[in-house]
Amino acid sequence: MYIGRFAPSPTGPLHAGSLVAALASYLDARSNRGHWLIRIEDIDEARTVASAAEHIIQTLAALGMRSDGEILWQSTRQERYNAAFNQLGNAVYACACSRREIADSRVSMASDGAAIYPGTCRHGLAPGRVPRAWRVRVPDANDSQTLIQFHDRWQGLIEENLAAHVGDFVLKRADGFWAYQLAVVVDDAEQGVTDIVRGADLLESTTRQIYLQRLLGFSTPRYLHVPAVVNDRGEKLSKQTGAQPLDVGNPIKALIEAAAHLGLTLSHTPSSVDEFWTMAILEWEQRFVRI
Ligand SMILES: [Zn+2]
Repeated sequence: MYIGRFAPSPTGPLHAGSLVAALASYLDARSNRGHWLIRIEDIDEARTVASAAEHIIQTLAALGMRSDGEILWQSTRQERYNAAFNQLGNAVYACACSRREIADSRVSMASDGAAIYPGTCRHGLAPGRVPRAWRVRVPDANDSQTLIQFHDRWQGLIEENLAAHVGDFVLKRADGFWAYQLAVVVDDAEQGVTDIVRGADLLESTTRQIYLQRLLGFSTPRYLHVPAVVNDRGEKLSKQTGAQPLDVGNPIKALIEAAAHLGLTLSHTPSSVDEFWTMAILEWEQRFVRI
């Protein structure tokens, strides 16, 4: 049974970029005759905007996309993240380093621009040092387990050496904040997600997520990362880069534009939202499902 999901962070209204990710995940679920779930990734309270989640859910519904099951809210799931964190046992250790201390160690940069953690606290904290975060150990550079590979249905073969390019990464901060990587892996496993379809901006997170899946004994879903939508300056569309809320006054136009970004040609202009979905699902199926 195919189970897919769309998992927005409620930091603002749906925009053209997030619509593309929603559309792709919905098309893939429908053309595989599967279930499609909405999950609200609201664990980062500092970034969560009140009522943004409801707005996103309503906008998706106006475009014909409704969750096939109960909507999961990450803010309600602290206990589950804690249980997974505890399950990791000795794979996790306390780290007392400040951002400045890590930057000053002059290590190289990780693929996402963060400094690669030099491993300072791997063997325990010096007396008097207070934990700021908990990190998960990645295998050493000479250990074959540190190379994570997967086949992405859009991007092809992706591989990353965790020791060389990521380093031990944070799962939890002392202020109680859970890292995105852990929450996503726990939720996908519990919801039985078989297929993750999302924007390519999350490609660089995938190898860390696969590593966590392996440590926790979860199976690894299939992945498909669609090209991110960028603005005139080449920046990924987001609230931070000034993306405009989606205009759902004309749902067919919004859907056609998102479909065009995914390379769907649509043989003619659909006259209704329902007709759009019939055409788009068929075209997606021919391209990604029938091989
Ligand atoms: Zn440290």
